Amino acid sequence: MNGKIKILDFTPEETRRVLENEGWVPYKCGQFLEWVYRKAVIDPNLMTDLSLDMREFARNRIDICLVETLAEKISADGSVKLLCGLHDGEAVEIVLIKHPGRNTLCLSTQAGCRYGCSFCASSKSGFSRNLSVGEIISQVVAAKRMFPAGRLNNIVYMGVGEPLDNFKNVAKSLDIITSKSGFNIGQRKITVSTCGIAPQIIKFADLGKQYELSVSLHAPSDETRNRIMPVNKKYPLRELMGACAYFYKKTKREITFEYVLLKDVNDSELDAENLAGLIKGLKSKVNVIPYNSSLCAEFAPPDKDAVKLFCDRLSRLMVKVTVRHSRGSDIGAACGQLRFFNKNTKTGHIGE
Ligand code: SF4
Repeated sequence: MNGKIKILDFTPEETRRVLENEGWVPYKCGQFLEWVYRKAVIDPNLMTDLSLDMREFARNRIDICLVETLAEKISADGSVKLLCGLHDGEAVEIVLIKHPGRNTLCLSTQAGCRYGCSFCASSKSGFSRNLSVGEIISQVVAAKRMFPAGRLNNIVYMGVGEPLDNFKNVAKSLDIITSKSGFNIGQRKITVSTCGIAPQIIKFADLGKQYELSVSLHAPSDETRNRIMPVNKKYPLRELMGACAYFYKKTKREITFEYVLLKDVNDSELDAENLAGLIKGLKSKVNVIPYNSSLCAEFAPPDKDAVKLFCDRLSRLMVKVTVRHSRGSDIGAACGQLRFFNKNTKTGHIGE
């Protein structure tokens, strides 16, 4: 800890107050916020419309970006994976995904994850701690610096960690991302995922915002879900679906259910029928993601035919379904492949 002010822990309004207390006039505070949030400039020397004294103050007293890019990998499909080092030696991976006309950041919210979904690499090194607000926001700054002209259109909270397990910091980071004096990204351009912590879904709905909710469902029965997602033992499907219904009632937002298709685990036509029954009556869509990682030896990718039969069955049962082939799988940046490196893991390279 260096005693500097960690400015990205604050909302833009809080930052203004901090700087005004230091004697900055309001329009200079506004210019500083522009540099950080709009232009993603983190070197005070480049903030040319600030006085030399202000630049010196910023250099000596303020920590702007709280993550350091330790490594970078570029996929054949253009996705970029960054290994972001944190002040205490922990490191998390994040992904920048380029689509024609839009850029998406998949960010991380915890150093590790305590939920232990069996097909996911993110919890294999255990759980260390929550990321601070500033560490979450720093990933947004890092991403803006990577995209041409700093254009970043979508943010998905789907990297390392369970976002709703770090609720307070995630909620504040969402305020900063959507603030007009912050990154000014629309609420509907932000997706928060969860493995199904039912009480936190209710709290998330009670924020009264228009964020997208994405629920990692991955199984249509408690029996299968208990096997692959231990969280289900605490919050079984009945409770989870009740929380989803509450979310829809409060926000009127369609819910996305993520469904990783695992060969001979959850990919039968009967599974598709049970899934359709489970989400019946809930305005939702299903993203089917054929498993494609070699990280967990107990699971295999589904056969092509099984993917088609599964999706056709859902469509016939009037479920909105999309097959999503994860981007960046060649660099270990696809769903469930992002990793966390703690002090005991060798950092400085990116895992696959
Ligand atoms: S899928 Fe999400 S909740 Fe489950 S272990 Fe991975 S990061 Fe944690």
